[in-house]
Amino acid sequence: MTNNSTTFEKLCLRNEPLANHSSYEIGGNANFVAMPETPEELLILLQGCKTHGLDYFFFGMGSNLLFPDKPKKDRLYISLKNYVHWEMKPDKWFIASGTPMSMLSVAGLTYNLPGLEFTYLLPGGLGAGIYMNAKYGPHQINDIIETVYYIDLSDPTLNIRSIPTAECLYGYKQSIFQQNPWIIVGADMVMKPVEPVEGADDLLNRWKKWERASSLPSFYEFMNIEAAALHSKGIIIPSSMTEIDNYRSGKRHFEYPSCGSVFKNNYDYGTAVGALVDRLDMKNIAHGGAMISPFHGNMILNHDHATAEDVKYLMNVIMEAVDKNFGFVPEPEVVVVD
Ligand SMILES: Cc1cc2nc3c(=O)[nH]c(=O)nc-3n(C[C@H](O)[C@H](O)[C@H](O)COP(=O)(O)OP(=O)(O)OC[C@H]3O[C@@H](n4cnc5c(N)ncnc54)[C@H](O)[C@@H]3O)c2cc1C
Repeated sequence: MTNNSTTFEKLCLRNEPLANHSSYEIGGNANFVAMPETPEELLILLQGCKTHGLDYFFFGMGSNLLFPDKPKKDRLYISLKNYVHWEMKPDKWFIASGTPMSMLSVAGLTYNLPGLEFTYLLPGGLGAGIYMNAKYGPHQINDIIETVYYIDLSDPTLNIRSIPTAECLYGYKQSIFQQNPWIIVGADMVMKPVEPVEGADDLLNRWKKWERASSLPSFYEFMNIEAAALHSKGIIIPSSMTEIDNYRSGKRHFEYPSCGSVFKNNYDYGTAVGALVDRLDMKNIAHGGAMISPFHGNMILNHDHATAEDVKYLMNVIMEAVDKNFGFVPEPEVVVVD
């Protein structure tokens, strides 16, 4: 066996529950799952897929996904959540795609880089945040990045290319990456440290050692510990971050497995999907182990060993009811993986 094929075998987990890689805690056992820690490992996996006749699906922390109950046999599911890395230099702050977005708010307080507070407790890695153009309130990920680095899977050289944010066709939960076979490797941030930052890796190392990166309670616990540690050092936690914590805790974001909002809001209609579900008195409706959240009409919770089919059933119930009563079919935000 060549070195690359040995590495490919080593990187692939076999018979691995996709539920372990999704904040929904849903998904059957996949024949192949891998979590590369570097772009080099990623390229070996892509090459290995070719050799073994596998197709692939890329994801991050699995916080906006619904994995299938029966994953495809000949598919490698590749999560970039272990590609956690940053380079903090005066002229550049590069962040690798697996780095949690919420880590940016903590780093912002630690290294005096304002403007990142909105990422606090926003689940998911930066790569997917760029792909989905993740947002909180009026702030979107495209506000804070300058250049995105990606691999174009249709380019046989698989070289890393770059694109400035201005060319990324950003809109509400939209980006150019959704229209192309491009894998986001990382990005340069708009804000940069004024001086090289000593010890900037400690924060990332603590996250790398933290287990269960896709579990919402575990993610919440980690970020809380980091914020409390900063507070105990005399760093003031901005009120915007406390408000985010209060809002998300109030909506029970981290208590039950979910994907956050299931549907995109329809800004032409003008009322949030959650409020429409509320008006139709549909909160608490359950099917199998899934339930429309009692706390937020646009969330479907895995409250008791739900299957992907249970969640899809409730999605259809909501889509039909909103169409019948308000005249439009809400567009899913969650990525339903086949
Ligand atoms: C409790 C909760 C609250 C949430 N609140 C918000 C919120 O306030 N605002 C918001 O915008 N979202 C929210 N979300 C959704 C989620 O946080 C974002 O969509 C986030 O960007 C997903 O990141 P991820 O790494 O988990 O992506 P995944 O779920 O793993 O993947 C999502 C999509 O991105 C693609 N993708 C992932 N990584 C890459 C990559 N490197 N290159 C190319 N494509 C890639 C995948 O193929 C998939 O299509 C919430 C989710 C939860 C569970």
